[in-house]
Amino acid sequence: MISDRLRRIKPSGVRRIFDLARQMKDPINLSIGEPDFDIPGPLKEEGIEWIRRGFNKYTPTQGIPELREKIAHHLKKKGVQFDEVMVTAGVTGGLLLASLALINPGDEVVIPDPYFVMYEYQVLLMGGVPVFVDTYPDFRLREEALAGALSKRTKFIVINSPNNPTGAVYPEEDLAGVARMARERDLLVLSDDIYDNFVFDQPSCPCLGQIYERTITFGGFSKGWAMTGWRLGYVAGPREIIQQMITLQQYTFSSVSSFAQKAAVKALDFNVDHYIDGYKRKRDLIYEGLKEKYRVQKPGGAFYIFPEVPGGNGEAFVEKAIEQNLFIIPGTVFSKKNTHVRISFAATEERLLRGIEVLNRIG
Ligand code: PLP
Repeated sequence: MISDRLRRIKPSGVRRIFDLARQMKDPINLSIGEPDFDIPGPLKEEGIEWIRRGFNKYTPTQGIPELREKIAHHLKKKGVQFDEVMVTAGVTGGLLLASLALINPGDEVVIPDPYFVMYEYQVLLMGGVPVFVDTYPDFRLREEALAGALSKRTKFIVINSPNNPTGAVYPEEDLAGVARMARERDLLVLSDDIYDNFVFDQPSCPCLGQIYERTITFGGFSKGWAMTGWRLGYVAGPREIIQQMITLQQYTFSSVSSFAQKAAVKALDFNVDHYIDGYKRKRDLIYEGLKEKYRVQKPGGAFYIFPEVPGGNGEAFVEKAIEQNLFIIPGTVFSKKNTHVRISFAATEERLLRGIEVLNRIG
């Protein structure tokens, strides 16, 4: 009954942990992958206003013109190279369209490990083969490691900086290495920049689209403006690919949320620096709180920290944390290795301090 395609998708091995977590009552929850602030008030009002005005119908498949122009302007200001932009149902929707448009069965897709879970499953869904590049222990992307993963069957490379789950921001040197190798082989690179306004130690986030013309850049409104439930993102890149993705969107999503697009036009001009400053303080709090007991990299962006656990068994460690009422995610959700755990610092400082106390007690 079920398609062959889905047979390649195995149920998660960590279901037991999520079952345990579901039974927790009022946990110290440091597992969450979305901001702990709400959509800023003026942007909510903008969305509500457009609903009231009756802007509630289908929109053009590729997105409303004023939002596409705004995104194009935003990316040009950042120095990102592209020749077409479309609006998508979150980065998730954009990634799915790109996978549908690009991956043939047997094609290899190179993914630095640890990685955002969706990349692996979308490749598998298309009959592709994910090829992982180990970036432990410092989560840098080295040319030698990348070279070892590339083959004649490589279709594209996926880059995600700032990174979920490690919080790593690739330095320009690493991005230059990716661009060099991709250019030599005329490869596409998909750059998931969804956390690009969450950077703590530099004025802005370097991204691959600034230095490599065959980049497909993904961005969105879920993280920077807390619009996770409004499902809005965008993709920018080479015209022939984006055009195909627009055709695919027509036959899949049709178009994306109308009022959310109107609010997003305002979001790109809406300054969220004070939220980012708050997240930097949380980053410092958790890093300082863990660094004595844990081998841990200081995250440069996003809102995750990815320490190695004492004893080297991430899943067993998470079970121990759950017994102490702390919910964090085992690294195996994001990696082929079971040595680390992901802790989200998208939480109140009070909750973070309680989490740090437990982690120091059980670590
Ligand atoms: N890409 C990364 C790296 C993420 O961490 C997430 C959400 O957690 C997404 C994409 C999904 O974003 P969206 O809400 O825009 O679909």
